[in-house]
Amino acid sequence: MIALRPADRFGIQRVLVPRGVLPQQADQVDPSLPIAEDELLIDVESLNIDSASFHQISSVCGGELPKIERHILDLVRKRGKHHNPVTGSGGMLIGRVAAVGPAFPTHEKPVQVGDRIATLVSLSLTPLEVRKIKKIHPQTDRVDLEGHAILFSSGIFALLPSDLPESLALAVLDVAGAPAQTRQLVSENQTVVVIGGGGKSGVLCLYEAKRRRGVRTIAIDYSDVGIQRLRSLPFVDHVIQADARSAVEVMKKVSEVTGGKMGDLVINVANLPDTEMSSVLSCKAGGIVYFFSMATNFTRAALGAEGVGADVDLRIGNGYTSGHAELALGLMRESPVLRSLFTEVYCS
Ligand code: NAP
Repeated sequence: MIALRPADRFGIQRVLVPRGVLPQQADQVDPSLPIAEDELLIDVESLNIDSASFHQISSVCGGELPKIERHILDLVRKRGKHHNPVTGSGGMLIGRVAAVGPAFPTHEKPVQVGDRIATLVSLSLTPLEVRKIKKIHPQTDRVDLEGHAILFSSGIFALLPSDLPESLALAVLDVAGAPAQTRQLVSENQTVVVIGGGGKSGVLCLYEAKRRRGVRTIAIDYSDVGIQRLRSLPFVDHVIQADARSAVEVMKKVSEVTGGKMGDLVINVANLPDTEMSSVLSCKAGGIVYFFSMATNFTRAALGAEGVGADVDLRIGNGYTSGHAELALGLMRESPVLRSLFTEVYCS
């Protein structure tokens, strides 16, 4: 029997370049076998690539699938993980547990060989080896493949639920942090503005916000498809068609709808850069701007807010909140409208 590597809660021993940093900060990690005593080995079935990342890869490849495939294979071969160096983001994966190290904390995180799981830590830190890409689904940012991944003992995952289709679960779990944090941030009778509201996390945030009594929801999106989708949703009070990169245009439109009061909470889930200032300018003084988007630039947001004298609370969107997976899946079980929308859009 092959000797396992020693236990290493954060997987630092797998970092090749530069040595000693955490895997998320690393340029390159080592995805090779054997696993460590406290790791999980996963036979990967699909990656759900972060939307900002997939969008960036697709645009440098001109949307051509063979080029996207080559790009992803090269990226993973070079870095030992799917960590987009331009957006800094990754995504998550689903697969079947192939081995459980004897020191993996199964008492806290019950799991056994054969379980199908979705990882809830970013691909940007998950050691990954891809043998073959089977299919790319550009509409849903999903890539089916053969390969293996490693989950450290500090990592989190969810067992795939038996009552929901897996592509639905994958889509929801990818952005589970967004509705969970919306639940923590929103209060009764507030006005909540969601920028990029027609997408996966946007719709979940809008639904979650509207569950609170007296909340008014405003969704901003760009494409006709996104706008049409938003208009059909009973939990969206106002739909604004605007380019989130045009800060002043967005501010004016939000001002019109709110009678100049602006949003108490502005959530940014747009999947492209340069949308920081439309978020800041849509927020009232003393309000909260929550940047879930991975295309957010910290400097632009902080100095931009200072530059326009906006006294707003800028929050970074943590992908993890305790109980976020159950909360997000619970929304699918609770709302037939959400479930049918997600089934139609993300279960192709
Ligand atoms: P998504 O489904 O692609 O949604 C993005 C939305 O932004 C879409 O409705 C898109 O509309 C809209 N949009 C694009 N360009 C726009 C523009 N110029 N003006 C206004 N709206 C525009 O993405 P998602 O999966 O919800 O993810 C949203 C963001 O969250 C991404 O940046 C992703 O990287 C990030 N994310 C963060 C975490 C975290 O841990 N913080 C985890 C997962 C994802 P169209 O479809 O019409 O283009």
